[in-house]
Amino acid sequence: MKSNLSYGEDYKFIPATSLESGVGTEVLPDLYCHTIQIVNICLVGNADANNFVLIDAGMPHSAKEIISVAEKRFGENSRPQAIILTHGHFDHVGSIIELIEHWDVPVYAHELEMPFLTGKMSYPKPDTTVEGGMVSKMSAIFPIDPINLGDYVQPLPEDGSVPHLPKFRWIHTPGHSPGHVAFFREEDKALIAGDAFVTVKQEYLYKVFTQEQEISGPPRYLTTDWEAAFESVRKLEALQPSVAITGHGVPMTGELLNGSLQQLLEEFDQIAVPDYGKYVEKSEKSNG
Ligand SMILES: [Zn+2]
Ligand SMILES: [Zn+2]
Repeated sequence: MKSNLSYGEDYKFIPATSLESGVGTEVLPDLYCHTIQIVNICLVGNADANNFVLIDAGMPHSAKEIISVAEKRFGENSRPQAIILTHGHFDHVGSIIELIEHWDVPVYAHELEMPFLTGKMSYPKPDTTVEGGMVSKMSAIFPIDPINLGDYVQPLPEDGSVPHLPKFRWIHTPGHSPGHVAFFREEDKALIAGDAFVTVKQEYLYKVFTQEQEISGPPRYLTTDWEAAFESVRKLEALQPSVAITGHGVPMTGELLNGSLQQLLEEFDQIAVPDYGKYVEKSEKSNG
């Protein structure tokens, strides 16, 4: 029935984990963040409501865990109204086909992310030579081939609204990937940032393992456009979020978040942009 759905040929389990793996945090009454190995999924909806949305779909082979997290929070046999993606990297769509098969729900992503989700285009190869960290070095094994979600995936509405989440709007935050989006709710300034920025130095195996909280730009090995990535952080900083759930690392709130974002913006070249790597133009850094 759903036999037309497929992962890429390079799809596989990735042996990386963290101390937070399997841990869930209620960041706000209707925002629940759960860590799958090294990546976060987010359940949006009050625990006592029937309606909820899943943001991102975890690592490969984590569908059982995601389903049980959802059922624990929303009740047995509960299912989300939709799965909405910040972007299509393997660690954010790792279990999406099993989830679609189990729940039979639509998926939404930014239009520019569609080629990677409909079998048309691979992501650029991760940069294993980029400055910093064992995760960058092991990124050679990360799946980049397109998955194919067929008719199950649809582009997000052009007007900035987010299906089933009327108080949120999506914000285009490219750089880490072309169709990367964040989700923002004005009334309480809650931000779901995806990988536009993260709160852990995702390139370093040890820091990923301990999840030491530290603002960082998008994960380096997969980021291909640093100028766009900077503009995206600028956009998000201007929103003055009160709480941020990022794709990697523990959620950050309040003064720490605001101060950290401001620092990231001011020192983007030092904190985020690698000193070398195949997606960094040499000329940009030659004066350093
Ligand atoms: Zn990513
Ligand atoms: Zn990621």
